[in-house]
Amino acid sequence: MITGMRHHSVSVQTHLLFQSAMLTFKVTPLPFAHDNYIWLIDNGRHAALVDPGEAMPALVALKKNSLTPAAIVLTHHHGDHTGGVREIVAHYPDTPVYGPAKDNIASVDHPVGDGDKIFIDPLGLELQLIGVAAHTRGHVAYLGHGMLFCGDALFSAGCGRIFEGTPSDLELALNRLARLNDATKVYCAHEYTLANLAFARAAEPENAARDRYAAHCEALRRQDEPTLPSTIAIERAINPFLRTDVENVIDSVTAHCGIRPANMLACLAALRAWKDVFQGCFNPRPCPGDKSA
Ligand SMILES: [Zn+2]
Repeated sequence: MITGMRHHSVSVQTHLLFQSAMLTFKVTPLPFAHDNYIWLIDNGRHAALVDPGEAMPALVALKKNSLTPAAIVLTHHHGDHTGGVREIVAHYPDTPVYGPAKDNIASVDHPVGDGDKIFIDPLGLELQLIGVAAHTRGHVAYLGHGMLFCGDALFSAGCGRIFEGTPSDLELALNRLARLNDATKVYCAHEYTLANLAFARAAEPENAARDRYAAHCEALRRQDEPTLPSTIAIERAINPFLRTDVENVIDSVTAHCGIRPANMLACLAALRAWKDVFQGCFNPRPCPGDKSA
C-alpha cells in the first residue's frame, strides 16, 4: 500500500541528495531544543528558513554554507516556531518574513493567508498557502515543488493539538492535506513520530504497513536520524487521524469512549481527545514540547 516505503528506507543523506537533484533545492533539517526542526531550503546560494524557533542553528548553517537568506516562512505564532526571527533579521535586515495574518505575529512583515501564493525569487521557490487552522487560529501550511511545510498541523503519525480551533477545523485542515498528491513530502516541525506511533498502535492495533513504518522510524532514531520528511501516501496509510473511516480505528475509539462515534468528525474529535491524555507514549527524550502533539 505504501509505494514510497522502500524508497523511504534509504539513508536520509541519500534521500536529500536525490530530492535535491529532482527539485534543485536541498532541504536540511536543523534540529534544536528537544525535538524541533527548522527546515532550511537552499539552492547553494540563497535559502529560505521555515519556522526558525531559535536563531543560532539557522545562523550557523547559513554561515557554514555561505548562504544568504531570501525569506523566513512561518506556519503559526508559537514561540518555538518564531523565537529566532528577530535575531536572524538583525543579522540579515533585508529578509522578508512571511507568516499567517490571523496569528498576528509581530515579526511578520508579509502577512499571508489561505489561497495566497508567494514567490521567493532568488531561490526560484513558489509556495502556495493552505489554511489549516485548529492548532492556532491562523495556522498555514506552505506547498510547492512537491514539498509541504505544515508546522504543527500534521505530524508523521499524528496531528497538532487543538489550541485555538474546534474538531471541525481540524477535520477541515486534515482533509485539505490528505487530498494532496501521494508523493508530496511532509516536512512537519517536530520529531514526534515515535510517540505518535505508540498512540497509533493503540488507536489502530492492526496495521501491517504502520508496523513496518514504525520499525523503519525506530531504526532511524536509534542512529539519531530524522524520521522526516514523510509523504502524504505514508500518512494516509499509517496516521490514525487520517483514517477515521477505518473500522479498526472506529472500533478502538468505541472501546475507549464506550460509545460508537456517529460520524467521522465525532471519531476524529474522540481520537484527538484520547491522544491529549494518552499515557502510553514512548519518547526517549520526553520534553514539554510534546504538548504540541
Ligand atoms: Zn505549535
